[in-house]
Amino acid sequence: MSRKMYALGLSLWVALWATLIASPGHAQVRHRRPIGPAPTLSYHFDNNAAAGCRDYSCGSRCYDGHSGTDMPVPVGTAVLAGAAGTVIATNNGCANTGYVGNPCGGRCGNYVQLEHSDGSRTIFCHMQLNSISVSRGQRVTCGQTLGRSASSGSSSGPHLHFGWRRSASAASADSFRGGCTSAPGVWVDQRPYPASPGDACQCVPSPEVCNGRDDDCDGRIDEGLTRNCYTGPAGTNNRGICRGGTETCAAGRWGACAGQVTPRTETCNRMDDDCDGRVDDGVCAMDAGAVTDAGRDAARGDGSAGADAASADVVGSDAESDSDFADDASEPSDQDVSLVDLGPVSVDADVSPDRVDVPSGCACRAATSPSSRGARSGAGLWVLAMAWTASRARRRSRNG
Ligand SMILES: [Zn+2]
Repeated sequence: MSRKMYALGLSLWVALWATLIASPGHAQVRHRRPIGPAPTLSYHFDNNAAAGCRDYSCGSRCYDGHSGTDMPVPVGTAVLAGAAGTVIATNNGCANTGYVGNPCGGRCGNYVQLEHSDGSRTIFCHMQLNSISVSRGQRVTCGQTLGRSASSGSSSGPHLHFGWRRSASAASADSFRGGCTSAPGVWVDQRPYPASPGDACQCVPSPEVCNGRDDDCDGRIDEGLTRNCYTGPAGTNNRGICRGGTETCAAGRWGACAGQVTPRTETCNRMDDDCDGRVDDGVCAMDAGAVTDAGRDAARGDGSAGADAASADVVGSDAESDSDFADDASEPSDQDVSLVDLGPVSVDADVSPDRVDVPSGCACRAATSPSSRGARSGAGLWVLAMAWTASRARRRSRNG
């Protein structure tokens, strides 16, 4: 055999086994009880091949040769499929009230027989005449109504006879597991002897969804289910500061949208708070300086806005900025009053800054700066003023 053929054979073998292992036919089908309200079971399967009977729990709740489990229920009680399957046989036409040994329906009376995905079969005997609601070949689901109960065929009173066999060719077997039976047990929820089984259907795995059920059959409900969320207005998600969050499922309900950021009132912060695609729209439009100063004074809370204005009125300033157009206490005291008195000089804008800037005693140099025609003009006036002052002082001195 070539290496290629060997590899092909090996992959086919692996594929075959993978198919067999994955086949649902190999998973044992388990059942719910076939009656709604839990009945008190009367007779169990006889696990004793010899004379006499022995039920699955080594008790005597049975009778010799019994091939199933009897569930006493009133005539007309709904009979339910214990698991999903296909109807392979039905029988109708037997009187509702039979008797022990009545041969109608092979002693089963009116009945429904199902085949399940694992090849096993279940049968429901002694049903009500004309009550069977399924037909041969029909697929049924777990818990689906097959018909109604009665006492047809070989029956001494109203009850449902539930029978199970491992395969089409196998003999009937006990549907319960226990110390006195070799049967594996077929119930989803076999309860303590001698109670009826539970009414839960076998879990068939499917993707877990937020519905309060264990869809994936791992024993946990709605585990690990989250989804993206956003409750803000349409069109605002992922715009500006807006971001989506995460919802987590618990007990069939989606929780709050955790971590999301929805639109806020726009503030002057260089961010798009209201997530409309515009930053600081309509909130930073006023004069920036006024907003900033006001904000600063407000933040400082010391009412020092006046100090701000006064602080601008300092040596070196280009102009009188405290709006009084006159010297005040905050201005340097070295200003030569006589200079200020010379009104005409002050109109010369070129001189004004120099005059204020120069320290005491150096006013003459600034005033005589050759760079300024105004300064020259001012110097002449200054000389005249000084001369007038000196002359007056001399007069006072003379007069005094
Ligand atoms: Zn029976």
